[in-house]
Formats: sequence, C-alpha cells, structure tokens
Amino acid sequence: MEKILVLGGGVAGLTAARELASKGLSPTLVVPQDYYVSGPSRPLILSGEQSLDRITRGYNFLPKNIEVVYGSVKDVKTEERKVVLSDGRELEYERLIVALGLRYAYDAIKIVDRVYNVYDLGRLFDLKNLVWGISGGTVVVNAPKQPYRCAPAPGETVMIIDMILRHRKVRDKVKLIYVDGNDKPQPPVIADVWLKLFEEAGIEYHLSKQVSEVTESGVVLDDGTEIKADYKVILPPNRPVLFEDWLEVRGPKDLRLKDYDDVYAIGDVAKLPFPKNAEIATQSALNAVAKISEELGLEASYVDYKFSGWAYVGNRSGKLETLSVQFSLDFSEGKPKGSKDPEPKREYTERKDAWEQAVLRKLFGY
Ligand SMILES: Cc1cc2nc3c(=O)[nH]c(=O)nc-3n(C[C@H](O)[C@H](O)[C@H](O)COP(=O)(O)OP(=O)(O)OC[C@H]3O[C@@H](n4cnc5c(N)ncnc54)[C@H](O)[C@@H]3O)c2cc1C
Repeated sequence: MEKILVLGGGVAGLTAARELASKGLSPTLVVPQDYYVSGPSRPLILSGEQSLDRITRGYNFLPKNIEVVYGSVKDVKTEERKVVLSDGRELEYERLIVALGLRYAYDAIKIVDRVYNVYDLGRLFDLKNLVWGISGGTVVVNAPKQPYRCAPAPGETVMIIDMILRHRKVRDKVKLIYVDGNDKPQPPVIADVWLKLFEEAGIEYHLSKQVSEVTESGVVLDDGTEIKADYKVILPPNRPVLFEDWLEVRGPKDLRLKDYDDVYAIGDVAKLPFPKNAEIATQSALNAVAKISEELGLEASYVDYKFSGWAYVGNRSGKLETLSVQFSLDFSEGKPKGSKDPEPKREYTERKDAWEQAVLRKLFGY
C-alpha cells in the first residue's frame, strides 16, 4: 500500500488522515505533541464562558489504520522523499501532505514590552488575568494585515474585553483602542457591524494601520504615529510553519505543490484565495484526498469552498453572556457571495459552540 505521510494533526491534517483511512488507506500522521487545542472559542476563555478541557483532545481515539507518530518536523527533503524530525528520526514517504498550519511571527515586528493575545495559550490566560485585574489605563488591540488566521478574532477580543470591563463596572476608567492593518475590520462582510459596535461601545479605532513596533509606552504604527497604551494585545503577522512563504498550490481543487506531483499543501499553510479558517482547512483537505483518490483509481468527490461563521461581539448590558452575529461566504461561483444577520444574538454564540464541538467530535472521535 502507498506510504502517505500527513504532517500536522490539526483541522486539515486530521481531516485528510481520516478521509484517507475511510478509503481503506493507512496514512501516518505526524503530530508534535499528544494534544490539540481548538481555536474558535478561545476568546471566550477570557470571560470564563469556555474552559480549556472542553476544547482539548488527544489522538488515542483515531481509527486504527491511522498511525500516529509523535515528533516535531524539522525539515522536508522533497528530492529524497524524506521528512526529518527534530530528534533526528527520518520518515520516508511516497506521497506527502503538509498541514503544519501557521505561526505567530513575533520576530517580524520590534517588541520590547509584554504582549497579550487570544491566539497563544499563555498570553491568553495572562490577558484574562489582566482584564479581570485592571481598573484603569489604556488597552490597544490590533489585527495585522491579511492573511491572518480567523478574521474576526481581533474584533472579538476587543468586544469581549469591553464586556468584561462593563461587567466589572470599570469600563469608564479604561480606554480601548483598536488598530487594524486592513482598510476594514475583518472579515469585510461584517465590517459595518464592527464599526457600529465600536462606535456604540466607545472604542477608538484606526484602519489601514499596521503595528510596526511595541514599545514600553505604547505602539508605533507603520506611518510613524505613536499610540500611547499601557497594555498591548498584539497579534503579530502570521507566517507558515517551517517555510519562508505560504505553500503555493496548483489551485483550490488541485493542492499539489507547483513543482512536485507527490506533495500537497492544505489548511492554513497553503496559499489559497480564501480566508484562513477551519472550514476552508477542512475543504482543502477533502479536495487533496479527492485528488489522491483519483490518482489511485478510487472514488473521488471534490467539494466547493464556502462557510458560515459567527463572530463574538461581547455584551454591553453588563451581563457576562457573549452575543454573536452570523455571517457566511460562498466561493463556489468564483466571486465570493456573502450574507449576514447583523443582529447580535445569544443563540449564535450557542450555535458556534455546537459547531466547534461537532468538529472536534468528528476529528478526534469524541
Ligand atoms: C483564537 C483562534 C480563533 C479561531 N476562530 C475560528 C473560527 O471562529 N472559525 C474558524 O473556522 N476557524 C477559526 N480559527 C482558525 C482555525 O483554527 C484554523 O484556521 C485551522 O485550525 C487551520 O487548520 P490547520 O490544520 O491548517 O492548522 P492547525 O489546526 O493549527 O494544525 C496545524 C498542526 O500542525 C502542528 N505542527 C506545527 N508545527 C509542527 C511541526 N514542526 N511538526 C509537526 N507538527 C507541527 C500543530 O501542532 C497543529 O497540530 C481560529 C483559530 C484561533 C487560534
């Protein structure tokens, strides 16, 4: 049987491994540690509405025909069809699927002070501690220029911080500033919703401005402006894990690398004309497996790229009950078609939770 290696046991890698296994193939999945922490509801950890144990899973409940190798990938030698792990082990392959995701490039901007965000777990818990402790000062929250992972998360972060400060009755003593590297808060389909919410919540915002430096006294933007802030909630530019650049594939439904017939890139690490999120990662994985199936003479079914999402928008009533808006994007006919319900609802927060739990169950088996 063909030796198929899948690098990365997140949304894309696991979807691909499971899909291959369901076709009777026996892929090997390489994961750096024995657990995975889901992303979408991490912002709710700030308000205590989500807990780590509900979004963490291990790899012991995968189908038996997926072999799990624990190790961190250090190098991919495409000419030799080999993957080198950081402990020196080498794994050979006949077909390779790269699903290593992305990293937050703290080295891409000058940072000389402490930074928080909702993406990295340590910084997330530190941010929770901060937001529940402060009773004055200025907090700046940024979104880098696209592409970055999960378009709404920076907007969600500032609105959840706003909610917690209102709940603690200290909102009038803390100034909130939002800086976005894009010309609209993301994703563009709900940009008007964000701007209305920022106005209503008294959040100062700056668009088309990237944070280029974090100093002790605030942040410096790429046009040289300095914004004074005591606390910096910073998502640095996103970069692919291991590689210099996003991996260029032949197309959204042919995810082979440009120069290699036997190497595929899926999920956030791939250069695709779509947002970087879990649904797109899943669809790219299914399409990569469809191509492999076609080549192996198995039944192949390709999928279109589209998704529904929910953005947490906090709650200005003082209650610690995050409301959300719903939006969707459909790329199946070339030009993206967007739709939304701009009315914040509790029900949408619950739907996002049900969706995330269903994704985890499907991927990890519980
Ligand atoms: C805070 C946050 C909020 C989000 N919100 C949403 C949302 O609301 N909706 C949505 O659809 N998506 C959301 N996402 C995005 C979604 O989680 C990602 O787009 C999706 O996980 C991408 O899948 P992936 O498999 O490419 O990457 P990942 O799921 O990150 O998987 C990559 C895997 O590769 C592993 N890996 C990394 N380096 C190595 C190495 N050297 N060797 C071996 N393995 C390695 C990682 O440990 C990980 O297991 C959010 C993400 C975050 C962090």
